[in-house]
Amino acid sequence: MDYDEEDYDQDDDGTEPCPYCQAYVYYDAERCPSCGQYILDADTSASRQPAWVVVTAVVLLAAMAYWLLSPLW
Ligand SMILES: [Zn+2]
Repeated sequence: MDYDEEDYDQDDDGTEPCPYCQAYVYYDAERCPSCGQYILDADTSASRQPAWVVVTAVVLLAAMAYWLLSPLW
């Protein structure tokens, strides 16, 4: 039989590799304990963004537009 399936056991112990530093992080962890980056679920974050992300983007764009249009210089 092919015992290559044993390799998948590493992915089934409740951890996943950190996308930033490849350290194994628990699924429950919001941040990587190794590099401190926030671990986001790629499947959900790519399809639907949280409301605060949209709000933050709008605020930043508004601030940038205000800064560009301000006659300070
Ligand atoms: Zn990390």
